[in-house]
Amino acid sequence: MKRSQYFLPTLKENPKEAEIVSHRYMLRAGMIKQTSAGIYAWLPMGLKVLKKIEAIVREEQNKAGAQEVLMPTIQPADLWKESGRYDAYGKEMLRIMDRGDREMLFGPTNEEMITDIFRAHVKSYKDLPKNLYHIQWKFRDEVRPRFGVMRGREFLMKDAYSFDLSPEDARISYQKMFLSYLRTFRRLGVKAIPMKADTGPIGGDLSHEFIILADTGESEVYTDKKWNDVDVTAQGLSYDDTAALETYFTEMTNIYAATDEIHDAESAPPSNELDVARGIEVGHIFYFGTKYSKAMGASVQNKDGSIVDVEMGSYGIGVSRLVGAIIEASHDDNGIIWPVEIAPFDAGLINLRSGDAACDKACEDLYQQLQDAGFDVLLDDRDARAGDKFADMDLIGLPYQIIIGPKGLEKGSAEVKNRATGETKDVALDQIVSILGNK
Ligand code: ATP
Ligand code: MG
Repeated sequence: MKRSQYFLPTLKENPKEAEIVSHRYMLRAGMIKQTSAGIYAWLPMGLKVLKKIEAIVREEQNKAGAQEVLMPTIQPADLWKESGRYDAYGKEMLRIMDRGDREMLFGPTNEEMITDIFRAHVKSYKDLPKNLYHIQWKFRDEVRPRFGVMRGREFLMKDAYSFDLSPEDARISYQKMFLSYLRTFRRLGVKAIPMKADTGPIGGDLSHEFIILADTGESEVYTDKKWNDVDVTAQGLSYDDTAALETYFTEMTNIYAATDEIHDAESAPPSNELDVARGIEVGHIFYFGTKYSKAMGASVQNKDGSIVDVEMGSYGIGVSRLVGAIIEASHDDNGIIWPVEIAPFDAGLINLRSGDAACDKACEDLYQQLQDAGFDVLLDDRDARAGDKFADMDLIGLPYQIIIGPKGLEKGSAEVKNRATGETKDVALDQIVSILGNK
């Protein structure tokens, strides 16, 4: 992509309304535009990152055996009356009336709708287990939308729902999602720690929040220092190996991690082994048994002919919140530092002297070569000051910057800068593709 043609409306000044760094950088890097309180339009570069995160979440869900569906954003109120949540949900739910005076709503979550789909089609134990997910926009009329996409009103969520015959089977489904979440966040280039969460009135001990550590996190968290060394992704562990999955789950959930509300000094390990930090919730998984299946009649016939309510769990990831959360965890004073897997472009190419025939040609040639090698490159070919180009490139945080100017060209080289480390080196023009690694 050529910067002269790209819709990338970067800002030099910090927008006043942005209180935290991710919000500031997302606005300044031209990723989003607020359209109403807590509602955002995604501009080309923001959308690119969102889609990359979505793709990784999807791949990891599929690997764990979940199947993708797509449910609508608009739901009939009747389903929520069946579960009893229509009144309970309160003002956070956006309620809509259609032209036939039917009560509708913009879905804040999908337990009712998925249960309705399930009950229409699944009648036998032979069809279990099932795990269905979608990646869809949600609406919650938050009292205080803030921090940009981190606490929006309209936001993109991945939500999965598992259906099992027994609590034991449901535990396995839960453990698969637990592992898949840790693998997902690791691939996204961030460290998320699973914390035991309050299960509320349903009880049971199976609920975890996944927390990314960052100074601006909304909650205080206490984590065992062991989280720094342990291999949370359990490489080589297969989702089908249920015995190994149980061992892994026990091991992980025995390492201390708690949010402020749950942390109590009594049950925690000695304080010198704990880190205290702040955290952002990027995922939440939940086993809730027969809460919805009982209320809505989602049952199957068991082997012995008896009818049983299915055991359910739900598993959310805040896909759009992750864009902000990852920036909170990965930035410096000059801008964003994208983890490689989700960077909007692999590299930025800066033409220090646009209009100079030799510089223009070298940039065009390298731009072509890099694209032929499979790299997605942003070429800053604008007629602008070098300082502005550098500042913009640091702000948008691409993993590599390749700087082409008249001095380097005399030696047949360009400067390559690693955005994360700040290291720069002169590299011969014909070596640049290999320096960037394999695509
Ligand atoms: P929170 O405690 O942050 O309000 P929640 O517990 O209400 O979140 P869940 O119902 O567990 O949220 O939703 C699953 C995930 O969706 C959360 O872990 C979070 O990452 C994301 N999420 C929830 N609310 C918002 C929001 N208003 N804006 C952006 N993402 C959100
Ligand atoms: Mg939650």
